Amino acid sequence: MTARIREFLRTRREDGPCVVVDLDVVRDNYRAFAHALPDTRVFYAVKANPAPEILRLLASLGSCFDAASVVEIEMALAAGATADRISFGNTIKKERDIARAHQLGVRLFAVDCLAEVEKIARAAPGAKVFCRILCDCDGAEWPLSRKFGCVPEMATDVLEQAHRLGLEAYGVSFHVGSQQTNTEAWDIALASASTIFRECAERGIHLRMVNLGGGFPARYLKPVPGVESYGDAIFRALSRHFGNRLPETIIEPGRGMVGDAGIIETEVVLVSKKSENDDVRWVYLDIGKFGGLAETMDESIRYPIRTTRDGDEMAPCVLAGPTCDSADVLYEKVPYLLPVSLEIGDKVLIEGTGAYTTTYSAVAFNGFPPLKSYVI
Ligand SMILES: *Cc1c(COP(=O)(O)O)cnc(C)c1O
Repeated sequence: MTARIREFLRTRREDGPCVVVDLDVVRDNYRAFAHALPDTRVFYAVKANPAPEILRLLASLGSCFDAASVVEIEMALAAGATADRISFGNTIKKERDIARAHQLGVRLFAVDCLAEVEKIARAAPGAKVFCRILCDCDGAEWPLSRKFGCVPEMATDVLEQAHRLGLEAYGVSFHVGSQQTNTEAWDIALASASTIFRECAERGIHLRMVNLGGGFPARYLKPVPGVESYGDAIFRALSRHFGNRLPETIIEPGRGMVGDAGIIETEVVLVSKKSENDDVRWVYLDIGKFGGLAETMDESIRYPIRTTRDGDEMAPCVLAGPTCDSADVLYEKVPYLLPVSLEIGDKVLIEGTGAYTTTYSAVAFNGFPPLKSYVI
């Protein structure tokens, strides 16, 4: 926890859970990306945390933005980004949203099939498109499904069709899975990307850009490689597959940009047992899966948790949220070690919660308000 967040929480009086994001950490993270991948443009993935203060800071530092909807595009514009710094990176778009984005000046769109190319040709004539390819997400703690992307063999046809319809076939994108702890994960996808570049060139289409996606990790319980290691591994993989004809590259960090900039403060609502001789306590917090901790789904993301009693003896707990939904359990398969002395009313800090918390929090499940957010 940063000194600024500590000071903020010390003086906070409002009731209820909240996330506090320290902009100094976001600034450091942006600079670390820019330094580790000096020839790559950064497109911040807005969905990770769209707080206006974060978008404004990143816009002022020179970041570009990966938006998934017209509203995210509008947020990036409101933060000071010009339309040429915004990519409409969702492969699933309504044609009228494509038209709206085009009207707003956006010229860069993701596709992964012919039908989407046709929509863009109609609604955003002349735009640049890149084709997303499926990618094996081994090594990612929050893998992405087969929902986005096509097999590499299909991408060449998709891009050729874009070219035929008057669009600029611009490049290839992929996402190696979020919280990707293997720095070599980009290698296979870059091999596919270079094949697509070659096949397109044989058809007279000269692609220019590889979108390396997100996947850069935040620090949770386990140590993760530093951003420099990712930069080195990606540069080596690019050289291996593209030789000295390196394409333009962009990255779309979300979690890696804001994850470790935020902390959630929550309160213990109840500590109980299911039977007299149960040795695992149930600890219920005033935040759960519907209050912003959706990434505990399948216990994928294990956040570091701090209490004021951390020196005391520890014992395993099932950790759960406050709503009346039985899915609202954070950690049960692998119980969480917490101090035996933990009591009702204790404040608990959940670290690494700057990404994918406010955006996942429900509007009013059971009347609990959405996660309060402070950006300092
Ligand atoms: C969500 C998303 C990202 C961000 O991924 P992280 O793993 O959080 O860095 C990047 N690109 C696209 C297209 C996304 O959908």
